[in-house]
Amino acid sequence: MAVPVSQAWTVATYVLKQKLAGRKRYPLVLMLEPLFRCNLACAGCGKIQYPAHILKTDLSPEECFKAAEECGTPMVSIPGGEPLLHPQMPEIVAGLVARKKYVYMCTNALLLKEKLHLFKPSKYLSFSVHLDGEKEHHDFSVCREGGHDIAMEGIRTAVAAGFRVTTNTTLFDGADPNSVRRHFDQLMAAGVESMMVSPGYTYDKAPDQNHFLGKAKSRRLFRAILSNRKKSWEFNTHPLFAEFLMGKRNFECTPWGMPTFSIFGWQKPCYLLQDGYADSFKELMETTEWSNYGAKSGNPQCANCMVHSGHEASAVDYNFGTLKGFIETAKAYMFPSTYPDQEAEKLLNEWKPAHAMPLVQIQGATKDQLQPVSGD
Ligand code: SF4
Repeated sequence: MAVPVSQAWTVATYVLKQKLAGRKRYPLVLMLEPLFRCNLACAGCGKIQYPAHILKTDLSPEECFKAAEECGTPMVSIPGGEPLLHPQMPEIVAGLVARKKYVYMCTNALLLKEKLHLFKPSKYLSFSVHLDGEKEHHDFSVCREGGHDIAMEGIRTAVAAGFRVTTNTTLFDGADPNSVRRHFDQLMAAGVESMMVSPGYTYDKAPDQNHFLGKAKSRRLFRAILSNRKKSWEFNTHPLFAEFLMGKRNFECTPWGMPTFSIFGWQKPCYLLQDGYADSFKELMETTEWSNYGAKSGNPQCANCMVHSGHEASAVDYNFGTLKGFIETAKAYMFPSTYPDQEAEKLLNEWKPAHAMPLVQIQGATKDQLQPVSGD
């Protein structure tokens, strides 16, 4: 099972309550960003190019709890920055768990092994480890040699200690689907509960602007990766969102589905864009011009976006909003398909790995902006 039954039940009853209350727009997962500081400087990341005083600022545990209560979602994802660099992260996680939130703490796992004792295993807590592919690919993608091995060791240690461990993999142009499939095998063999995979977003602040995927390329890549899939692979994304990535169905964006709260406030309109901030969740919902976003809006910033933070909530809404969606989802969970596809098989066999181009390293990320990692 990709997520525990209790989690699936909590999310299903939450969404049904929103539907019965007639709410057209409701959030599904709070994206809580308690800091932007990181111990990596990935070329495809748009989050850590802030000045030093911003990178040094943290949300307090009280601010985090207030945001979780204001928005009321059953799930809280904690990205960043690297959450394990936040000195009060164990307190934040414990407080969210005490509020019965299902927490996905996103981490590059460089510090996971040494900080694991600060957390308690719980059905409400999952470490969501960021791993972009096999060793060579991941180290290249995060611009850190040895990062893959440290993360894998962190995963194994956390699994052995009884924690829920999931992974998230972001793919950029040049990803090799055969390598990604081997990567999935390695993750499942390491004992992860389930995996998430999503295309990277074209952050205009990211230092490398040449490796983001357009929609047609994304669909081709995900069709090659996710068709003819192995029964041993478990994914924690909604099955219809995976079909969206493979080009089998279309979803418009639901930018309010995963609202983002950070040291700046509630970010308009989504995790990826920064068109201003609201002081409260209510203000975010009421004052954002939602019609300006999503592929249909014609907004060029949304044209190539297929990321999970915008589109997975659309799959969930379709799931609970229509009888057809409900039946299709039930079928996908009860009789999971391996998506047999001869064309996709051919694509895999004929795929020529792109020549590795050096990714642009972030400029100005000085040593004192980046906290030392144990072992440095
Ligand atoms: S399409 Fe992407 S960038 Fe645009 S609002 Fe949705 S999630 Fe944000």
